[in-house]
Amino acid sequence: MIFGVNDAKKWVQKINEKMQKNKQQLTKLDQAIGDGDHGINMARGFNEAQNIVEKKEYSSVADVFKDVAMTVMSKVSGAAGPLYGSAFLRLSLSLKGKDQVSYADFAKGLEAALAGMKQRGKAEAGEKTLVDVWERVVEHLKKTDYPESEQLTAVAKSAMEKTKETMATKGRAAYFKEKSIGHIDPGAMSSYYLFAALSEVWKEA
Ligand code: ADP
Ligand code: MG
Repeated sequence: MIFGVNDAKKWVQKINEKMQKNKQQLTKLDQAIGDGDHGINMARGFNEAQNIVEKKEYSSVADVFKDVAMTVMSKVSGAAGPLYGSAFLRLSLSLKGKDQVSYADFAKGLEAALAGMKQRGKAEAGEKTLVDVWERVVEHLKKTDYPESEQLTAVAKSAMEKTKETMATKGRAAYFKEKSIGHIDPGAMSSYYLFAALSEVWKEA
């Protein structure tokens, strides 16, 4: 698999589609254990990111992700903005200077993105955040040498669903303590959509 500028653009477009489509659902989840803005935040940020990248000509995948990072950081308010922003920035930095992005490069890039998120949020896996989904996906990608789209989606989905059982210890949801148990984390859900979008792009790449 070679991931090119058009694949990067397609990924952003598909993430945006999923954020628009599931805006209400993400907001509902954030109403249960947060302040109810996650769907609005993500839909606004990725709509803007999509508008910016679709019009521009890029010579590298890294440049596409840099624009996504900057846009998401400035347009997504709340905790999710800096978290997703630092993920795309690390992904971009990791792919910098590469004309052709291989599967191995991309997997390494996502690992760097995860490290950026963990550092930014001071979070580890198991705290009922989007990190739970990213960690499981990165672990899975390290074990495989070719992207299997169905598996990627399944891994992200099960990690997202698992957040329902755990208690939040980071972010606004942590204020809910035991009451956060029984609800899926909104950030984990948006990250699941992001990886579901990626798996669709891989399938076509
Ligand atoms: P806010 O909580 O500021 O309203 P959002 O609603 O946009 O921001 O995003 C909430 C999501 O961000 C949570 O569901 C969780 O996945 C993630 N999150 C919040 N705080 C942290 C943190 N410290 N580390 C990692 N992820 C976090
Ligand atoms: Mg919120």
